[in-house]
Amino acid sequence: MATRPGFPARLPGSPGHPPATKKIAGQAQRERSAGQNTSEDTQPRGYGLDSGAVRARMVQKLAAQGISDAQVLAAMGHVERHRFVDSALVNQAYEDTSLPIGLGQTISKPNVVARMLELLLGGQRGATGRLGRVLEIGTGCGYQAAVLSLVATEVYSIERLRGLHDRARENLRHFRLANVHLLFGDGMAGYAKGAPYAGIIAAAGGDAVPPAWVEQLAVGGRIVAPTVMADGKQALVVLEKTTRELKQTVLEAVHFVPLKSGIA
Ligand code: SAH
Repeated sequence: MATRPGFPARLPGSPGHPPATKKIAGQAQRERSAGQNTSEDTQPRGYGLDSGAVRARMVQKLAAQGISDAQVLAAMGHVERHRFVDSALVNQAYEDTSLPIGLGQTISKPNVVARMLELLLGGQRGATGRLGRVLEIGTGCGYQAAVLSLVATEVYSIERLRGLHDRARENLRHFRLANVHLLFGDGMAGYAKGAPYAGIIAAAGGDAVPPAWVEQLAVGGRIVAPTVMADGKQALVVLEKTTRELKQTVLEAVHFVPLKSGIA
């Protein structure tokens, strides 16, 4: 699998990867005094946690839980999840738990985000080793969009609640992700202007996958969406589009907020 230069495919302490080369004594100091942005400088302080080490542990746990895609693990290890949650919840940011993000919505637990991205990436990847254009339905706080930005070439993310769309913009400003495009609108209609998509991922569960998503999906692409089944319970559904068919695979039970129509 090709990796982009600079893409953090190797994480300190992640299983199967050698530890990162230690800086020779004095080097970090020199870089700091030269005003360079070292990783040490970008670690948050004052939260009582060293977020790089905490994330590396989170990635180890994800790997132990069966997430094996190196790109997904690297991206999860890279994005500072604590920047997306309320300051009162910062200490829980790297626990495997969903967290409230306001307006009755939640950020999915890391394991579910990683699992869904792995399923999404199971489709075609381009020459860069990344997925092409991706559509995310349900921007929420913007966390998953940030992770997606590291595994896909372009990310279109749509949110129906103005308050969360604005909050995601605020949260993401810090990261300066040129390949993330935030949209305010009803994601049930997809976003035709960005189509066709190599992948479509929903962070909210509907009764069925809207036809617009299938139309806007490229051949060879995948939709990963929580969907309510006949028994009334949500399950993770993967749809793969080929030239001949739309193959559906129903996976494990999940608990996502409902997919709603219209904007608010
Ligand atoms: N990926 C998000 C998770 C957000 S929760 C994150 O990382 O934070 C799911 C989001 O889907 C909620 O913010 C909800 O408002 C949004 N949503 C529900 N139905 C939608 C629709 N039809 N179009 C766009 N967003 C929708």
